[in-house]
Amino acid sequence: MERDPYEQMRMAMVEYQIAARGIHDPRVLDAMRRVPRHLFVPAGYERAAYEDTPLPIGQGQTISQPYIVALMTALLAPGPGDRILEIGAGSGYQAAVLAQLAGEVVTVERLPEVAAAARQNLARADVRNVEVLVGDGTQGRPESAPYAGIIITAAAPQVPDPLLTQLADGGRLVAPVGGRDIQELVRVVRHGDRFRQESAGPVRFVPLLGEHGW
Ligand code: SAH
Repeated sequence: MERDPYEQMRMAMVEYQIAARGIHDPRVLDAMRRVPRHLFVPAGYERAAYEDTPLPIGQGQTISQPYIVALMTALLAPGPGDRILEIGAGSGYQAAVLAQLAGEVVTVERLPEVAAAARQNLARADVRNVEVLVGDGTQGRPESAPYAGIIITAAAPQVPDPLLTQLADGGRLVAPVGGRDIQELVRVVRHGDRFRQESAGPVRFVPLLGEHGW
C-alpha cells in the first residue's frame, strides 16, 4: 500500500496496542500495518481510527478495537490460498485485514446500507479479494463451503450449527460466544467430526441477530 498521512499513527498502533500486548505473528502485524484503517471509519474520525478503541460506524454498529481485530486474526490463522467466511462485515476492516493473509474472503452483512459502505471502503482501500454479501450470516454460505476459517464478528448466543458444518477439516472458527453484554472469545478447531474448543478471554460485541443468533 502507498504511503499516507496516517502511516506513522498506524505503525504506532501496531507497536503499542498490538505487539506490546503479546501478538507477535509477523504476518498479522504486517497485515495490520498495511491496511489503512482510517478509510474504514466515518468521515471526520480518521485520526480516532488509530486509537485503542472501537468506533461507531452508523446503524448502531461498530468497527472493532484494533487489538481485537489482530487477536481474532491471529486465532483464525488464515493461510495463503485459504477461503475465509466472515459473519458481520460492518466497516469491512476485519475482512480487509484477513484478505492480506488469505486467498479470498466472503463476508456476510445483514444490513444492506452497512454492506454498501463496506464495499465502498474496501474499494477505496484497493482490497480486491473480498466479496460482501447481504443476508443472515448465521446460515453461513453453503455455496462456497467448506472454509478454512470462519469468523463471527458479532456476539453469538452459541456457535451456529450451519457454520460448524461449513468448516473444513482442520479449519478454525473464531467467535464471541455468550450473553448479550459480555462474551468469551472462543476458537473451535475441526478434526473430522470432532470440534475442539478453547477460550481466549472476555470480549464485548454487538449482538448477532438472525435464525441462529439472538
Ligand atoms: N467486522 C466488522 C465489525 C462488525 S460489527 C468490522 O471490521 O468493522 C457487527 C456486524 O454484524 C454489524 O454490522 C451487524 O449488522 C452484523 N450482523 C449482526 N447479525 C448478523 C447476521 N445474522 N448476519 C450478518 N451480519 C450480522
